[in-house]
Amino acid sequence: MFYNSPMSNIIQKGMQNRILSKSEIISILESDNYDNDLFSAADKVRKEFVGDAVHLRALVEFTNFCRCNCLYCGIRAENNDTLRYRMSESEILSVAKQAIDFGYKTIVLQGGEDYFFSAKYLGEIIKKIKQYDVAITLSIGERSFEDYAYLKNCGVDRFLLRIETTDEDLYKKMHPNMSLENRKQCLYNLKKLGYETGTGCLVGLPNQTLESLASDILFFKELDADMIGVGPFIPHPGTPLRDFKGNNFWLALKVMAITRLLLPDINIPATTAMETLFPNGRLLALKSGANVIMPNVTDSIHKKMYEIYPNKASVDYSELKQTLNSIERTIGTGKGFRNKKY
Ligand code: SAM
Repeated sequence: MFYNSPMSNIIQKGMQNRILSKSEIISILESDNYDNDLFSAADKVRKEFVGDAVHLRALVEFTNFCRCNCLYCGIRAENNDTLRYRMSESEILSVAKQAIDFGYKTIVLQGGEDYFFSAKYLGEIIKKIKQYDVAITLSIGERSFEDYAYLKNCGVDRFLLRIETTDEDLYKKMHPNMSLENRKQCLYNLKKLGYETGTGCLVGLPNQTLESLASDILFFKELDADMIGVGPFIPHPGTPLRDFKGNNFWLALKVMAITRLLLPDINIPATTAMETLFPNGRLLALKSGANVIMPNVTDSIHKKMYEIYPNKASVDYSELKQTLNSIERTIGTGKGFRNKKY
């Protein structure tokens, strides 16, 4: 690695001290000249702290009903072109069981903010899945402290709730009738209740600044998040942001790599949006700090209807095994919890 420039010194400082100032993060995001140094530093940290195993999490998208109207999201309530579905309890259990039989050690239940699935109803489904030796991750948006507590007692291990952006104004514009304050509160509640807590941000939203992305990264650190998913924004034709095209892949990869430097022992997925946006995006992410992949195991009919952005990439298992082999990585055999190292 090239270590005698101010920028390389900043990257090295991030690696060694696990802390960078906002202006240092911005300077890394601003320049393209040191991207390879950054990516290889993040890869080195990933190897040292979480090893070569890539943990697979089976993603079940069980409802695309959503009460929210996030401007970027294809399943927003006001997108009338979306055909809505809710998987039945038996459909969810059957898809989860297939994934467990295949060897997955984590089932991720994700959906829009759909209160048809009360905590009580979801809890029954969760208890049934927990009869098998698997971890469960929920990603169902904002709920009350009591709901989160109830679901934790039913056996949920992890929760994914992206902050999306920590920029107050941008948050307000992107999320009608929602508040950044409540989103943060939900994340602190999840932490308090003992969930492995995942968050993350979107990269490339209209008028998003590098400064706000730097604040996002510092927020991940402040929360001591256990998982971070960084997703490049991809425009969906059924949303108000349909014409807001941007090439956000490299910037998202950099945000992810810096996050790995500052939170070395957490789980970081190579996100589907990265693979969708850029050929071999998943592979590049795995070589730049990522250690998790979330293959979508939803049945094909429902999968098509859960269109948060168009042309979502999929994972072919045997191709994935070959890809991992080619970069000397293995498929994780355990549940892949965060092993906190400091
Ligand atoms: N309702 C849950 C929640 O709010 O966390 C989970 C479902 S939500 C659809 C999952 C994630 O999709 C969001 O956190 C958001 O970052 C991502 N997403 C939505 N629209 C997107 C888009 N157009 N491009 C990239 N990612 C998007």
